[in-house]
Amino acid sequence: MKYRIGTRGSKLALTQAEYVCGRLREAYPGDDFEIQMIKTRGDVILDKPLHEIGDKGVFVKEIEEQLLSGAIQIAVHSMKDMPSSPAPGLVFTKSWKREDPRDVLILREKKSLQELPQGAVIGTGSKRREFQLKRLRPDIRVVGIRGNVDTRIRKMEEEKLDGILLAAAGLHRLGMEDRISQYLEPEEMISAPAQGILALEIREGEQRLLDMLNELSDEETELAAKAERGFLQQMGGSCHIPVGAIFRPREEIEEQSDAPGSEETEGRLDVIQKDQKVYRLDAMFGDETGTRQAYVTVYGAKPEDMAEEAAKEVRRKMAGKVILLGAGPGDPELITVKGLEAIRKADCIIYDRLASPELLAQAKPQCEKIYVGKANHHHTMKQAEINRLLVQKSMEYDKTVRLKGGDVYVFGRGGEEGLHLRRHGVEFEVIPGISSCIAGPAYAGIPITHRGKALGFHVVTAHDRRDELADIDFAAMAGGKETCVFLMGLSKVGEIAEKLTEAGMPGSTKAAVISQATTSRQQTCVSDLLHIAEEVKNANLVSPALIIVGEVVSLREELNFYENRPLSGKQYLIPRIGTMPTRLGELLKAQGALVDEVQVGEIVRGPGDFTAKQLSRADWLIFTSKNGVNSFFRQFREKEMDMRSLAFVKIAAIGGKTAETLEEMGLYADLIPEDFNSDALAEAMKKQLTGSEAVWYLKAGNGDGHLKETLSAYCRFEEIVVYENCKVEPKLDGLAPLEDYDGILFTCASSAKRLMEAMEDVQKRCRIYSIGPKTTSFLKKSGITSVLEAECSTYDGLAERVMHGEEN
Ligand code: SAH
Repeated sequence: MKYRIGTRGSKLALTQAEYVCGRLREAYPGDDFEIQMIKTRGDVILDKPLHEIGDKGVFVKEIEEQLLSGAIQIAVHSMKDMPSSPAPGLVFTKSWKREDPRDVLILREKKSLQELPQGAVIGTGSKRREFQLKRLRPDIRVVGIRGNVDTRIRKMEEEKLDGILLAAAGLHRLGMEDRISQYLEPEEMISAPAQGILALEIREGEQRLLDMLNELSDEETELAAKAERGFLQQMGGSCHIPVGAIFRPREEIEEQSDAPGSEETEGRLDVIQKDQKVYRLDAMFGDETGTRQAYVTVYGAKPEDMAEEAAKEVRRKMAGKVILLGAGPGDPELITVKGLEAIRKADCIIYDRLASPELLAQAKPQCEKIYVGKANHHHTMKQAEINRLLVQKSMEYDKTVRLKGGDVYVFGRGGEEGLHLRRHGVEFEVIPGISSCIAGPAYAGIPITHRGKALGFHVVTAHDRRDELADIDFAAMAGGKETCVFLMGLSKVGEIAEKLTEAGMPGSTKAAVISQATTSRQQTCVSDLLHIAEEVKNANLVSPALIIVGEVVSLREELNFYENRPLSGKQYLIPRIGTMPTRLGELLKAQGALVDEVQVGEIVRGPGDFTAKQLSRADWLIFTSKNGVNSFFRQFREKEMDMRSLAFVKIAAIGGKTAETLEEMGLYADLIPEDFNSDALAEAMKKQLTGSEAVWYLKAGNGDGHLKETLSAYCRFEEIVVYENCKVEPKLDGLAPLEDYDGILFTCASSAKRLMEAMEDVQKRCRIYSIGPKTTSFLKKSGITSVLEAECSTYDGLAERVMHGEEN
């Protein structure tokens, strides 16, 4: 038979292929072997570090394609360049005897690492080598270097590097042993998984060829490949992250007198049977920046188990904590105090569809948020992938939160995630949440148990794994005195009602379906078993929804408190400055309204050009917003000014909220106008001024000049820009059509301007509310004739206006 052996064209790759070819010719003289060179992406792109080009496959893909097409029969690669599993349709043979797995130093002048001067410069493209080198010699500077062995040696000479780090195996194969200055022992530097091992890849099902190649394999190398690559795979198998592993027989190490034992793992030797050969696996793992690194040693007899154990050990040392967190049923305030704290501290949040956006807004700005939601069984991510993601993120962050709707263990698959984390050595904690099965009925006015009506409750899922009606004991439900709660059952309401009546439950038994419970969109249908399906269909209820069956449903007539609040069923739009939900929105929601907010601006701190000396000459400070107060005092603190420097300065605040913010700092405004607007403020100020006072107005950069115009004649008026209200392009997708809103609430002229630039015909389509005269006058100038203005220019005033009437 004729066999073509494919390889990359680099000198080293060719040498490896020639070695393989030579051994095959020797062992199988009856067959014909020939080498074929193939160019890969990794060979073409030479100007970037490897981890920027792509994953391990960069040297491999084209060669694998040739194998699959039959152009070649055997591919020779370096095992350490291989992805954790071969491409579909291909297999690796057993490994042949390994070359020296160690890393080595080639030094330009000196003989060893110890001799190198302080701050010496070493070239390597590998973070694994870099981090470990820094462990040995923190003073050494590492520079990136790529290319084949010759190129690297040339660069070392040209760029006057003190040395470079390379794999011994390659140099041996190229016959360049004499260039090696120093071998680094595994105790000093753990080499890449499978370093020095060749990967021989063939097509699946080529039994004869497989047998031929396996015949030449080496058992110990095969074990090493399994252990080291097993570890790599356990750790996620990416070449973006520094990872090393070296597997050796234990005796080999014991012979070297100074080999350090590991106290932690020595104990594991007990579990190995006497006659089994014992091996040792040293492994290292680090994050991309090298801030976190772990080094572990495990002993054992089975490479796969050792790989798993080492990975577990690394995670135990390095992984942060994962918190399985129940977000509550929908109303963001129904999360536990402990849960909210966990969200605020999280470095990463992995969340589902049922987790409310308001909760995510509580996370730190730099927190990574990953959606893995499941909408109507179109699983965005399979559970196994979520499990893996949790382990992966735990290695990147201190605190990873897995946020789920309701409670984590109530049909939340929290158990599976907990088991997976435990098995992978990742510490986790559970923070329970209020389950929708309890909170939903409560918000619909249905007590889940009630003396005389229900002695207890059943909570079941209506769906099984195949998306069919689950195997539920309807007879037990029909015969009992308990409330029955079905989750995930909206599409099966009819079937469920039927099964219950078939099992003997009277058709007149009360039933309710609660959609989007505990949110502003909550909607409930109440009927009896015979008619509930039809009612639900007519009402167009959407998921998520709960089905409640039992006499307790009748109590809703008196206990319903949530769906008949003053603004229930109403929907408002609020353009807002900043990313956080507004207090105005909260006020409306508390009355039952549905509120959408759209960000139109953000507060950016201004220059704050003032010195302590200048400030000491001011007689009055005027604040017209909370942002002004906060920005000014942040600058004040940054300049390390002392509060006592304000001892003789008077303060004016435009309104209640501004004054409140001042009070939080222990400052009580000397002047607050009766009406909270700038005209009233200017009038009140005039009465205080004699003409010589220095008055500072701490304002927004793009605020108007109204105060300046009115007050300049009465004092030495100065404007200090302490913040800017910068435009953010409103994101309108996700909002309902304007016609669906019962009103847009404008809280300042700038947000009115920005929203109206982004939307058309605002006036025709929706009722317009304004917080006060300045905003109203802007709106009128923009052609809006009918504006409902708050009597008092505050959020409370505006909410009041929305609640009490349409009258103009
Ligand atoms: N762990 C969640 C349940 C997840 S299963 C919990 O404890 O609540 C998903 C099902 O929960 C949905 O199909 C629906 O039946 C129910 N559910 C969750 N949130 C809901 C809500 N706000 N309103 C109505 N049903 C809800």
